[in-house]
Amino acid sequence: MNIADNKVISIHYTLTNTQGKVLDKSEAEHPLVYIQGANNIIPGLEQALNAKGVGDKINVTIAPEQAYGVRDEQMINVVQRSMFTGDMKVEEGMQFQADGNTGPVIVTVTKIDGDEITVDGNHPLAGETLVFDVEVVDIREATADELEHGHVHGAGCNHG
Ligand code: ZN
Repeated sequence: MNIADNKVISIHYTLTNTQGKVLDKSEAEHPLVYIQGANNIIPGLEQALNAKGVGDKINVTIAPEQAYGVRDEQMINVVQRSMFTGDMKVEEGMQFQADGNTGPVIVTVTKIDGDEITVDGNHPLAGETLVFDVEVVDIREATADELEHGHVHGAGCNHG
């Protein structure tokens, strides 16, 4: 069986940036499991894995456009500290959910200057060229439920 849309794929991966710094990797016991063609993973990686088989290894460099997108300066805003309600302590590097134009987005506090707080709604990996080292470890058919939900069911599924 080879990788194609609507199959459930298990992969081990190491993600590095172009300087070779490891940004993320799958744990030995826990491969990443996703549905091909369901936008579970970034488009560039889905494309690179298409038609591969179990045991195949790939090393692929993915431009931002095919990964987490380019950085959008309009998603960086300066807001007043009074926007943060309650006794929330605002610190550089903290992330929270905010309402974006197209739904909820995760924003990061990037700078604090007195009462002026700079928040960045770009994905932390936006603008990054990513290098993936991947090994395909399993391929199976998705169940009807999985295809309907658009995600994989299994040990980690929280809705039975
Ligand atoms: Zn589900």
